[in-house]
Amino acid sequence: MAVNGSPELLIVMGAGATADQTEHVLARLQEAGVSARVQRGREATVIGAIGDRELLATLPLEGYPGVEQVLPILKPYKLVAREVAPDPTVIEVDGRKIGQDFFGLIAGPCSVEYREQTLEAAGATMLRGGAFKPRTSPYTFQGLGDDALAILREAREETGLPVVTELMDPRHVEAVLESADVIQIGARNSQNFLLLAEVGRADKPVLLKRGLSSSVEELLMAAEYVAKEGNERIILCERGIKTFETSTRYTLDLGAVAVLKQETHLPVIVDPSHAAGKRELVLPLARAAAAVGADGIIVETHPRPEEALSDGPQQIPSAEFGAFAREVEGIVALMGKQIG
Ligand code: PEP
Ligand code: MN
Repeated sequence: MAVNGSPELLIVMGAGATADQTEHVLARLQEAGVSARVQRGREATVIGAIGDRELLATLPLEGYPGVEQVLPILKPYKLVAREVAPDPTVIEVDGRKIGQDFFGLIAGPCSVEYREQTLEAAGATMLRGGAFKPRTSPYTFQGLGDDALAILREAREETGLPVVTELMDPRHVEAVLESADVIQIGARNSQNFLLLAEVGRADKPVLLKRGLSSSVEELLMAAEYVAKEGNERIILCERGIKTFETSTRYTLDLGAVAVLKQETHLPVIVDPSHAAGKRELVLPLARAAAAVGADGIIVETHPRPEEALSDGPQQIPSAEFGAFAREVEGIVALMGKQIG
């Protein structure tokens, strides 16, 4: 996407590059139908290439003799970039909105365990609950799979709440689509590009979590994979990243939320539960998330966290969720928003 003929790429020729080497690069660009501007400085020659970014990406310019560096000018993401849609995207899920003036509060158990447990955990804007669980150990509870999806359908029926649940395997896409109002892509699958393309073809909003070690740019490129297939109803989620710090389960990167709000028109929510790892830290992180400008939070709740089959230590007892939500609402109101 060249904007007003500005370059997509800068090709920096090394100090020792010969005129022939520069000509060779220019000839190759011309052959590919890319126009170029050359600036010959004392230290280096810089070629600005103007043309189709995708075409430019296919030219192996880095390997050309005399080329020192190839620098992209525009952001590598396009569809999700703020530049293409200056107004924030508001995602509506069954009448509930996430984006601009609304704050989505998604709550429910880490894993769906049984009917009453899931129903008792309901009480927010939307209900979350894992049917297929991406567990670090193959010996721990892996989720109830299809049985959990059936419980989620029942919970949706009884509570009227839209359901968010994770998709781990493209083979489950139909079953998950039947039960979910929002498809979650978990941190561990954040760069599973085939899965991203799969949900990109689905007619359902996607909640895309940041990978454990993904940069903000990598998260946006993951979102681009979804958007490129036609689905732009994407909610990004900061859920903490791996750092040297061990006092929390992951390091909640609230700076990333502020950056994302600048870089993309997509809504950004925060998962304070997985970042905290301990329930007493979840409320302060949730308040901070609301204050930094997040469009919502997703939080784990359980009627009896001490009996939970996964992530017990970080789940908020369902009985305390009302008080938790009111605390967060205080900050949400200060931000000029309301819980949608
Ligand atoms: C979850 O939401 O239960 C979950 C597994 O989250 P994450 O992918 O962020 O670890
Ligand atoms: Mn969990």
